[in-house]
Amino acid sequence: MSLPLFSIRQERWNRLLLQGCWVVFLLSVALELLFLQVTQVPHAEFIRLYIIRPTVIMGIVLLAAEVGIRYLPRHHDYILITTAAFMTGTITFIHSSLEYLLFLLFFPILISIFYFQYKKLLYAVLLTGISFVVLFVCNTAISENISVTGTLTMAVILLVFSGIGFGILARGREILTHLHSSYESNQELLVRTILMDKLAKTDALTDTYNHMAYHEYKDNLVTQADNGGLQLHLAIMDIDNFKKVNDTFGHKAGDAVLQKVASIAKSQTGGNDFVARYGGEEFVILFTEKSFQEAYDTVESIRMKIAAATHEALNGCNVTVSVGLNAYEPGMGKEELFKLADAALYEAKLSGKNRTVIAKAKQTAEHARA
Ligand code: GH3
Ligand code: MG
Ligand code: MG
Repeated sequence: MSLPLFSIRQERWNRLLLQGCWVVFLLSVALELLFLQVTQVPHAEFIRLYIIRPTVIMGIVLLAAEVGIRYLPRHHDYILITTAAFMTGTITFIHSSLEYLLFLLFFPILISIFYFQYKKLLYAVLLTGISFVVLFVCNTAISENISVTGTLTMAVILLVFSGIGFGILARGREILTHLHSSYESNQELLVRTILMDKLAKTDALTDTYNHMAYHEYKDNLVTQADNGGLQLHLAIMDIDNFKKVNDTFGHKAGDAVLQKVASIAKSQTGGNDFVARYGGEEFVILFTEKSFQEAYDTVESIRMKIAAATHEALNGCNVTVSVGLNAYEPGMGKEELFKLADAALYEAKLSGKNRTVIAKAKQTAEHARA
């Protein structure tokens, strides 16, 4: 099973691990310099054997790792584990008299755990095992220094370390799987909440916003318009003689007309406009970021398109709408915004229907400007 989350920021970790190797390298050089002060070995020999030799070998290994990581980015992990094995192998091989240094051979296993992948851990365990064998076979000082029991103990410790490594991996992957599933259920919940939210705000018949959503948006928009910077217009649109439509063609036909009227209104408005079914055969449109002329033109194009549309459900007849349009002025308040638009709609009905009437406040303002 591949758990992609473990590859997150892997490059950064690879860099850190390689930097860790450089630190180990520098520390080992520093320790050698410290030993130089107390050693019984002649200084020239010590410098050649224990400072220059390991420094050159480890330096070459680390530089090779830097090149490998740059040019073989897909094999970062194996390069780093191998680098760790070479470094620790070099240190333990050179210091055969310091048997406690053999524990350094577990370094690649610890590094492999960073990758949370069994195959990399297995690779590190194999490398460590091979390092042991190579050291014992090639460096007689080590095989002579360490007893059979000591060798067996090291082998057992290797097994225990590997076991712990596999345990850490299993536990980490278990936690990751758990994280994955809670992440997925969180995502599902989020999608469901968004859908529920949309449903709660949508009118099921016309697929426009509903009455509740209209009030919510209008309140926010009025606040924004009061604070300045937002142009806001409200149109109230009512289907003319709709009762007659229902009475003549039936309620179902009336529903089909409502759907078509809503879809025409939506098709003529933009992303910054807001079409809602206020109730019955009455719709409201909130225009934002539109000049009065643009809002008026849009309302008129909706009205004319509706008048021109024929309805199958009405045997090819059409319906018309009347509209009251009001422009919001800062400080007007949401009640007045609606009241003036409604009064304009009332006037449109009184003056013969199938028309748009501009609210009184706007008419007065235009008049004053003229
Ligand atoms: P006016 O031109 O003055 O607006 O007259 P009108 O007949 O359109 O207005 P009125 O308020 O008298 O009638 C509105 C009708 O709308 C009455 C009601 O049956 C109908 N109506 C309200 N909601 C629905 C609905 O969801 N579906 C259908 N088919 N009809 C509805
Ligand atoms: Mg009506
Ligand atoms: Mg009505």
